[in-house]
Amino acid sequence: MKCLAQIFTVTIYHPVGTCKMGSPSDPTAVVDHELRVKNVRRLRVVDGSVMPRITSGNTNAPIIMIGEKASDLIRGFYVTPRMGFSNIINLYTNNIGIG
Ligand SMILES: Cc1cc2nc3c(=O)[nH]c(=O)nc-3n(C[C@H](O)[C@H](O)[C@H](O)COP(=O)(O)OP(=O)(O)OC[C@H]3O[C@@H](n4cnc5c(N)ncnc54)[C@H](O)[C@@H]3O)c2cc1C
Repeated sequence: MKCLAQIFTVTIYHPVGTCKMGSPSDPTAVVDHELRVKNVRRLRVVDGSVMPRITSGNTNAPIIMIGEKASDLIRGFYVTPRMGFSNIINLYTNNIGIG
């Protein structure tokens, strides 16, 4: 089994986690929870490399969500679980100039 794992282990084209997101106290973390590179100004990482662990399914859709989240962060959208649906709708409609 050891030989099999060494020879046949593959990424199936889903490598992630080379710039993992983590807490400020985690010395192995490269970016913080807003995808900003620690100790570097005005630099974010936005791709599969920020995943601390690989997802249980395929990676493409979660990585697209990371991109969507990053664009919200850069534009100043802060949607939290406590905000409520109508507040979130107002936030979006006000920001794109409708409603
Ligand atoms: C063959 C294959 C099949 C896959 N099948 C699936 C699947 O069925 N389902 C699924 O969910 N996932 C699949 N994946 C995985 C999925 O495609 C990746 O996990 C995902 O696209 C990674 O997104 P990313 O943004 O991290 O990197 P990438 O999509 O690799 O994006 C990196 C981008 O950076 C650009 N770039 C590189 N260097 C530079 C540079 N120096 N300057 C500027 N730009 C640069 C590249 O051109 C590229 O556009 C597959 C991957 C492969 C390779």
